Amino acid sequence: MAESRAVRQPRAVPTPRIPSYIADDHAGPWDTFLAQVDRVLPHIGNLARWADTLRRPKRFIVVDVPLRRDDGSIVHFEGYRVHHNVSRGPGKGGLRFHPDVTLAETMALAGWMTIKTAAVNVPFGGAKGAVRIDPSCFSLAEIERVTRRYTSEIGVMIGPEMDIPAPDVNTDERVMAWIMDTYSMNVGTSTPRVVTGKPVSLGGSLGRREATGRGCVIVAREALRRLGREIAGTRVAVQGFGNVGGTAARLLAAQGARIVAVQDIGGSIVNEAGIDPVALGAHLAAGERIDAFPGATSVSADDFWGVECDLLLPAALSNQITAANAGRIRASIVLEGANGPTTEQAEDILADRGILVLPDVIANAGGVIVSYFEWVQNASSFAWTEDAVNARLDRILSDAFAVIWREAHERKIPLRTAAFVIACSRILEARDMRGLYP
Ligand code: NAD
Repeated sequence: MAESRAVRQPRAVPTPRIPSYIADDHAGPWDTFLAQVDRVLPHIGNLARWADTLRRPKRFIVVDVPLRRDDGSIVHFEGYRVHHNVSRGPGKGGLRFHPDVTLAETMALAGWMTIKTAAVNVPFGGAKGAVRIDPSCFSLAEIERVTRRYTSEIGVMIGPEMDIPAPDVNTDERVMAWIMDTYSMNVGTSTPRVVTGKPVSLGGSLGRREATGRGCVIVAREALRRLGREIAGTRVAVQGFGNVGGTAARLLAAQGARIVAVQDIGGSIVNEAGIDPVALGAHLAAGERIDAFPGATSVSADDFWGVECDLLLPAALSNQITAANAGRIRASIVLEGANGPTTEQAEDILADRGILVLPDVIANAGGVIVSYFEWVQNASSFAWTEDAVNARLDRILSDAFAVIWREAHERKIPLRTAAFVIACSRILEARDMRGLYP
């Protein structure tokens, strides 16, 4: 016979703000992401009840990636793949190789992908992957083995309708080709749609390589135009001279901007008269250090942040503009090519100083927009011309920027908060319409 029990009164059980699995790692980008979500809540009405959906990733996997080195020794790396949110479509996000990357940082990067895909209204969710490795210490053959093992280990998480990786810091077209090949070998059919940013010979899209840098330039153009200014004559300082920073610098210079300072992992250089980004690219591609570039003067990393310019383009890593250097910045606009380059404290300092921040979730969205084009082209086995890709990119990004700019001015909120309002409304509306399973 059933025992009689007192009826339990339901009691409020709040969702923990910091998940236990990163409880000791909450001062970095994930905390920045959470604070950005918090700033949106007063502006999204009843949808705010779904906000906890954004405060934790849907799922992630942590994998061991053993590598047999060229000399026969074996070394192990940590790998991650995070699906932050897939309410609006399959996960989408890059793969990063970096020795300092953590699960918490990968979660934040996946979260920003959720916001970014929604802010520009492409039908993807947000994901990200990483391997804690310094690729500069390994041969190409070793990087290939790491990539292939990592791909196999996260195989249950990726797929053309589930989660589609793309390049990020220290990964490129060749890495995407290895991912595509490994996944295809494992499933038994050639599956180009499992990655974007792959070589054109494997179904990559024309214009994808330059898309993120090109998108930065489009967003800069749109913002400058609304301020009665133009790219020609603009002085630019760039941190990070890789895919994003290098491309943006070349395109900006081609439109008449002057690149007055560049910083990469090897050093910082300045030249008030202008640094030739094409010559600098060739210098770095030849394996030379940036501070040995003949067309500029080497300065300390600290002095880079104090260079007088109109546009500061952080295009390297997260948390680069901090409370320590935000007060020194002498730019009128910060164009966030990198993901999460500005900390919360720094954001407030920049706002107090009247510096306009063009936030990452729109400024660097060009890459994911053209990745979407690549995925669509692969689905129809049809390739668009580069002009068509660039024109469609320009239209989608300019339109998305216009909506965010209007939202910011109508609500009198920063552009980042406006982008989050637009994006979170779309994501949480989708969440709401789908309902909660079961
Ligand atoms: P990349 O590997 O091509 O280039 C990274 C650059 O950053 C290199 O020039 C490197 O020297 C520099 N760098 C690294 N550590 C540094 C440090 N401590 N100080 C100064 N410079 C440093 O990477 P990428 O693809 O250009 O990505 C750069 C940023 O843009 C990342 O935040 C990435 O998440 C973001 N992003 C990239 C894409 C894309 O399509 N590749 C899309 C959206 C956002």
